[in-house]
Amino acid sequence: AKDASSAGNPSAGKDVGVTPKSQDFSRWYLDVIRECELADYGPARGTMVIRPYGYAIWEAIQRWMDADFKKSGVQNAYFPQLIPYSFITKEASHVEGFSPELALVTRGGGKELEEPLVVRPTSETIVNHMFTQWIQSYRDLPLLINQWANVHRWEMRTRPFIRTLEFLWQEGHTAHATGEEAEARAVQMIDCYARFAETVAAMPVIVGRKSRVESFAGADCTYTIEAMMGDGKALQAGTSHNLGQNFSKAFDTTFLDEKGETRHVYQSSWGVSTRLIGGIIMTHGDDAGLRLPPELAPIQVVVVPIAQKNKDKAAVADAANAIAATLTNAGIRVKVDDDDRNSPGWKFAQWEMKGVPIRVEVGPKDVAKDACVVARRDRPGKEGKEFDVSTVEPTSLVAKIRGTLDDVQASYLAQAKAFRDANIVDVSTYEELVAAVEAGKWARGGWEGSDEDEKRVKEETGATIRCFPFEQPAGPHKCIMSGAPAKEVCIFAKSY
Ligand code: AMP
Repeated sequence: AKDASSAGNPSAGKDVGVTPKSQDFSRWYLDVIRECELADYGPARGTMVIRPYGYAIWEAIQRWMDADFKKSGVQNAYFPQLIPYSFITKEASHVEGFSPELALVTRGGGKELEEPLVVRPTSETIVNHMFTQWIQSYRDLPLLINQWANVHRWEMRTRPFIRTLEFLWQEGHTAHATGEEAEARAVQMIDCYARFAETVAAMPVIVGRKSRVESFAGADCTYTIEAMMGDGKALQAGTSHNLGQNFSKAFDTTFLDEKGETRHVYQSSWGVSTRLIGGIIMTHGDDAGLRLPPELAPIQVVVVPIAQKNKDKAAVADAANAIAATLTNAGIRVKVDDDDRNSPGWKFAQWEMKGVPIRVEVGPKDVAKDACVVARRDRPGKEGKEFDVSTVEPTSLVAKIRGTLDDVQASYLAQAKAFRDANIVDVSTYEELVAAVEAGKWARGGWEGSDEDEKRVKEETGATIRCFPFEQPAGPHKCIMSGAPAKEVCIFAKSY
């Protein structure tokens, strides 16, 4: 609780505010989600209600992604959520990987169903069932489809946004005439996710290839973006798969090529989910709460009118509304907090906690000077005074606010990058790997180990191979386990 600001708080006396992040990261994360009204627990274990403030972040993610997908020729469609059980069993490794996580519908309309229906955990099977009917010849290719949907995976350990039984996502599904095209699309989409992470979410990511053990059930190859959270753990923030012909052979998805020969299509699939919101919280948040990157913030600027005396109230309110109108007309997302029940100090603390990038204050003195005060969220300090506060004239207000939003966006990315880079350690032996992981860091080193070696590291240290980064340091490399020459380095880390 923030004592300095609790005076005008309607719920003063209640336990408000968040546990400092530095004290207990897990509690801090859950506190932020509750106090900022991002989400609530659903009544069924592992489910989540996304509240308007959280959903608005998801909508901003959707807007950017959807526009970017469409620029590269992807079209949206929608497939049913219920999938005949037999579909899931057609691709052997797919059913093996997903079986433990499936939710089945066995009754409907008061009767046992002849065949159980799977509540989709992902849609490769039903998509292929339809692609088989839609694709005749090479002229129908490439087929580039995306759907925005909910999926269910019966997860054992859950955490809001990060891992829930039901989550919202987009899943892209493509079909191509050649393996090279499918591979190029899989890489193109992981690059799209990386671009989103860095330029929109201000979340630096390592882009790379998953190990066989960590790959998607049914993929030839899985690409990933891995982000470092504020406690040093890794988060798989998005994945893109080269499916090869695994599903097209299982579903007989074929096309007639230019020579009139029948061939199976090559495919990719790719997805990001509401997990991204958890990633954003855990990348940028601080002791005071949420810090939202301006590009995604539902409220970019909160305007707080400050009038202690009744005689000042009308003029201050007019000035605050005029500022808000100016900014709104310039396309900036603004809220005026003119709720009389709360003190300015309480409002400052509240919007700071909710991660609003910029606060604008207007008081009688500002009205007299025809100015306002601008405070930014990316600079530490609990009180307005400690912010980088500057007085701005109305004529330069839009430019000042736009510039400051860009600055805040850039500073979040720079801070997150500096933190991440300071917490990646180059290791050359297994002992060094163990020490790095125990210290909560990411360990980077050469790897030629077997699947069994990889599983052993997980059992002994809790760390998994996050990826083989696309950007490899100059070699030669030696395997952490055996010292033998290694073609590539990988990153081991504990993860969410
Ligand atoms: P996948 O189809 O398994 O590659 O999943 C695509 C993306 O969805 C992953 O990279 C995660 O970011 C996200 N994801 C997977 N499982 C969950 C879950 N249980 N809750 C939220 N997001 C998830």
